[in-house]
Amino acid sequence: MSIQNAPLMQTYGRAPLTFISGKGCILTDSKGDEYLDALAGIAVVSAGHSNSFVAEAISKQAQKLQHVSNLFWTEPMALLAKKLRELTGGWGQVFYANSGAEANECAIKLARLWANNSKYKIICAEGSFHGRTLATLAATGQPAKWKGFEPLPIGFVHVPFNDLEAFANAIDDQTAAIMVEPIQGENGVIPATEDFLKGLRKLCDKHNIALIFDEVQTGVGRTGSWWAFQQYGVEPDIFTSAKALGNGLPIGACIAKDDFGQSFKPGHHGTTFGGGPLICSAALATLEYLEQENVIPAVNDKGSLIQELFSKIPGVIQVRGRGLMQAAILQEPIAKEIEKNAIEQKLIINAVRDNALRITPPLVITNEEIQLLAKRLNAAIEKTLHQ
Ligand code: PLP
Repeated sequence: MSIQNAPLMQTYGRAPLTFISGKGCILTDSKGDEYLDALAGIAVVSAGHSNSFVAEAISKQAQKLQHVSNLFWTEPMALLAKKLRELTGGWGQVFYANSGAEANECAIKLARLWANNSKYKIICAEGSFHGRTLATLAATGQPAKWKGFEPLPIGFVHVPFNDLEAFANAIDDQTAAIMVEPIQGENGVIPATEDFLKGLRKLCDKHNIALIFDEVQTGVGRTGSWWAFQQYGVEPDIFTSAKALGNGLPIGACIAKDDFGQSFKPGHHGTTFGGGPLICSAALATLEYLEQENVIPAVNDKGSLIQELFSKIPGVIQVRGRGLMQAAILQEPIAKEIEKNAIEQKLIINAVRDNALRITPPLVITNEEIQLLAKRLNAAIEKTLHQ
């Protein structure tokens, strides 16, 4: 059986590449060809492919204890929760999930419970992406993704991103929370403005509603600080993390201020696998690696280098984003063709919109690799423009 004919549901238009191994920012396919990975499994493999520090932690833990369920305590779950609290600036109670969508489900349930069920509406942004479960799909502000799955859970309201007045006008006496991404990733890497997030904080305080930040994509150093909100100087009541947290192993986390987190009592929420010792050891090692190797302080300079180099590429009219979450905005809607031609150039990038290429490489990418990335992207764009 050919690998690429495997009986998988066709939820993804996969590229005709089968990867066998990876190291740092390099992926090797079944023909032995090496690709520069500027996607990192969609902002996941931040500490680099096959990171040996993380691999060793997984291997050690796998030989010690793999699973006991959430009916018991394990050391990795406690150590990781303490670490997350420390990285958040000394606050936060943690619920472990297995993905970004599940972390957001938890945030939604927690906000409703905190609001005592008398308030249930969550105001979200148009263009947002919060996941593919029914509730997170309902929270996602992209109607095209709802088609075929309606009726969706009620209580989600969508208003334009970065439009404080629209959010203010959408609040009513049934509103429990506002939920936004500090940078909309799937919508083409659109950063929130500082005034917008600060304004949301004020609105939430004024109306006693919860502010939720979905940091599934922006978190764990992607934008140059552990959490994007730390650069904006705005603290949420609840935020979520996933993607890079386990450097590729599936983990999500919903982290809440103590008075919010305390709303959950035994029986309110749960998961069999969440917070297992194996996954928490992997996540802890990921965070320790990023910290010990001083990876995150270098992220903004690397992002600036990407901006500088990309802005010189003909066909690119704007480069937007923060840190190592960037998008090259194209003059023409040819992102999909460029993504394909990039593969010929041995470069992995992602056409997140018709006119936007998403660049989210491993955070350990070197300046030399960024130079190579710009060169290969330039070649892929040139070929696309002239084919
Ligand atoms: N939230 C954001 C901002 C995301 O970017 C994603 C995934 O792309 C999700 C939630 C969903 O995460 P997952 O695919 O792990 O369920």
